[in-house]
Amino acid sequence: MSTANTNKLPEDSSNDLIPGSKTYKKVDPPDVQQLGANSWSLLHTVAASYPKKPSVTQKDEMKQFLNIFSHIYPCNWCAADFEKYIRENAPKVESREELGRWMCDAHNKVNVKLGKPKFNCDFWEQRWRSGWDD
Ligand SMILES: Cc1cc2nc3c(=O)[nH]c(=O)nc-3n(C[C@H](O)[C@H](O)[C@H](O)COP(=O)(O)OP(=O)(O)OC[C@H]3O[C@@H](n4cnc5c(N)ncnc54)[C@H](O)[C@@H]3O)c2cc1C
Repeated sequence: MSTANTNKLPEDSSNDLIPGSKTYKKVDPPDVQQLGANSWSLLHTVAASYPKKPSVTQKDEMKQFLNIFSHIYPCNWCAADFEKYIRENAPKVESREELGRWMCDAHNKVNVKLGKPKFNCDFWEQRWRSGWDD
């Protein structure tokens, strides 16, 4: 007959939580990959919610945002390359479609650098705004 204690309490996992918190786990800071995936989500989603016909102010703010983003992105070598990309390929901010494709091309530049396949930019809007029919 087994001597296992069937009344055993669930394993104590309080050490996984931040001291004093009943909710927040001790999650480590993001690495370059996690930071990248989350940042691309933000960038593509910002492009996907950009107006179809932006005002002069909205165009200006988008250019400023991308410029500042490329200066403060917390991965030095990523930021330097993104800044260079922006310098050589000025962000296209005349419409949502233009910006969405520009962002897709910018992301593909990084994909290629990292040896990853290119994403088909014909599908940027399904991926980041409308979703898929099927
Ligand atoms: C501005 C910037 C510069 C970066 N530079 C570097 C670098 O120099 N070195 C480095 O190691 N990492 C860099 N990264 C991180 C890198 O791009 C990836 O985010 C990271 O490697 C994680 O990759 P992933 O496989 O999770 O998918 P990610 O490349 O993060 O993609 C996430 C999702 O976006 C979709 N997607 C992929 N490509 C496109 C596209 N072209 N258009 C639209 N949607 C797309 C796909 O559904 C994919 O699953 C950079 C990230 C950013 C935001």
